[in-house]
Amino acid sequence: MNPAPSSASLDHLVKLLGKLPGIGPRSARRLALHLLRKKETLMLPLASTLAAVAEAVTACRQCGNLDTTNPCSLCRDPMRNARVLCVVESVADLWALERSATYKGHYHVLGGVLSALSDTSPDDLRLEQLQARCQGGQTDEVILALSATLDGQTTAHYIASLLEELPVTVTRLAQGVPVGGELDYLDEGTLSAALLSRLPV
Ligand SMILES: [Zn+2]
Repeated sequence: MNPAPSSASLDHLVKLLGKLPGIGPRSARRLALHLLRKKETLMLPLASTLAAVAEAVTACRQCGNLDTTNPCSLCRDPMRNARVLCVVESVADLWALERSATYKGHYHVLGGVLSALSDTSPDDLRLEQLQARCQGGQTDEVILALSATLDGQTTAHYIASLLEELPVTVTRLAQGVPVGGELDYLDEGTLSAALLSRLPV
């Protein structure tokens, strides 16, 4: 067992590390000691990178992606089809789709899914922005690329009904996404196949 850190600043570091997802108090103490052992090669570069990224990266006002430019580089890419929007729960899922290298349209990051458990309501998601992007004829298709979890599918149904009256085709990912499956955990091939054989909602 590692001894408890004595100084207040070290204690603060351990507390902050312990706020990271999946990191308990013991792991936080181990991480803090590891960082201190690798002060020059890891701790100082990490500290300056954290500060620089926090300063430079913002959420894209159009799609919600994280980037150093606003609108983001995906929204500004002239080679991408701006008439197709892929709706994802999080930037992690956007990254998963980008890794599959199949999709060449635009994105819309919701910032979560509807969930009674975590008290996420429609007002917490970027749904008004999605509706706005589907009005005015600048969008042809909306692909609902949400996880095959109960919350993901509830959200997909909610969005489909929200867009019902608008002049867009709504589709969803097809086979390959296992029930209960979260997008971020799928391999690129599976995700690619699910996207290519998407179905009307
Ligand atoms: Zn963007």
